[in-house]
Amino acid sequence: MAEQRDVVIVGAGPVGFLVALGLARQGIDVTLLDAAEGIVNSPRAAIYFPTTLELLDRLGVIEDCLAIGYRCERLAMRYPEVGEVIAFDYQKGVLPGQKYPFNLHFGQHELAGVVSDHLQRLPHARVQWRHRVTGLAQDSAHVLLDVETPGGPRQIRARWVVGTDGARSTVRHLLGLPFEGFTWPERFVATNVEVDFRKLGYFDTNMVVDPVNWAVVARLGKGNLWRLTYGEDGRLDEATMEARIPEHYRAFIPETEPYRVVQAAPYRCHERCAPRFRVDRVLLAGDAAHACNPCGGLGLTTGVMDANALHQLLGAVIHGRADERVLDHYAEERRRIFLEITSPNAQHFKKQLSEPDPARRAEQRDIMRKAMDDPATAQMATVISQRIMGDPLPLGQAVRA
Ligand SMILES: Cc1cc2nc3c(=O)[nH]c(=O)nc-3n(C[C@H](O)[C@H](O)[C@H](O)COP(=O)(O)OP(=O)(O)OC[C@H]3O[C@@H](n4cnc5c(N)ncnc54)[C@H](O)[C@@H]3O)c2cc1C
Repeated sequence: MAEQRDVVIVGAGPVGFLVALGLARQGIDVTLLDAAEGIVNSPRAAIYFPTTLELLDRLGVIEDCLAIGYRCERLAMRYPEVGEVIAFDYQKGVLPGQKYPFNLHFGQHELAGVVSDHLQRLPHARVQWRHRVTGLAQDSAHVLLDVETPGGPRQIRARWVVGTDGARSTVRHLLGLPFEGFTWPERFVATNVEVDFRKLGYFDTNMVVDPVNWAVVARLGKGNLWRLTYGEDGRLDEATMEARIPEHYRAFIPETEPYRVVQAAPYRCHERCAPRFRVDRVLLAGDAAHACNPCGGLGLTTGVMDANALHQLLGAVIHGRADERVLDHYAEERRRIFLEITSPNAQHFKKQLSEPDPARRAEQRDIMRKAMDDPATAQMATVISQRIMGDPLPLGQAVRA
């Protein structure tokens, strides 16, 4: 006999947790299932833009995030081939009414942890680790999930299912949806390293532009831990990736400078998207729906904004304040935003970092130098993330108060 649930969210990554909290705050019964033993802490998202911070504020978790995160107010474009550093000060581009005029840096597992703490205070929310979803079938009223658990196989019947199970989403596969797009040829290597990058002249966020030794270097949280993400030839053996770290680090850290690698992980990165984010009673959000390369920090940014739209709309449908068709609006609008805004910008940032043509690199440098004191440049991350959030008006029009 299958257990009955209202909403089951498959995947307790940051996006799954945020959808769950948004629904549970509306009094909805939510079950979050995850195949892992606990929150996955591989080195991934670390940079949260002002618009994302406003959404975390609306969900009531911002104070906890501010307590952990590092406030970053400046970004530097670095051009080692000519020894030039062009810096941008976010304070020069504060928009009227902007509450958080900085980016916040902290690991995405810490965000998941903060949201988890808030979620578990709500009586009608539960998180079940070591619960892997393996099967899915649906009729007009329910979705039936097959779940592998430590106690053996179980079935759970839900009124709604949300797939937030990451780029390799089982839910997406079970819906028979392809993941359309392409995979970048290089391997992205994300490392967390203890080193005094400040002493070495680095800013809190740095984009190192170079056709071979490109990198993103960003301070992580309040201590002396930094994220250094670089690229390597995707044909090299992944198993020996760690042995090559010192050789790659030489482009960024002088040999005399001590450092300690705390974590390192290789990633294949994609620009991919599902053709549909809704199949009847099953919805997709976050990396399960779309994936982009991390150079612009837009992947989780888009996932947080999916979560913001989805918990409001699904909550309104469940409470009878909106027609189910608003979920089609969610699916179509979030997909359009990924294809028209997120992925093109992420590709632009990646291509700019590793531009192979010296003349184009020089041209880009000139543009950056001229844009340095322009408030519009300092506002870029805020403006892009506002466009990724989308227009809340169609949601407001479709949902009855
Ligand atoms: C190096 C790197 C740096 C990045 N930096 C940034 C950044 O600064 N800013 C940004 O916005 N984005 C960044 N990203 C992207 C970001 O990491 C992703 O967008 C984010 O992880 C998506 O979160 P999610 O919750 O959708 O999925 P995930 O975090 O992948 O979580 C999926 C969860 O689903 C679970 N799961 C999987 N299969 C099943 C199953 N069958 N049953 C049950 N559970 C299952 C997994 O255990 C996991 O817990 C970065 C990515 C990389 C690789």
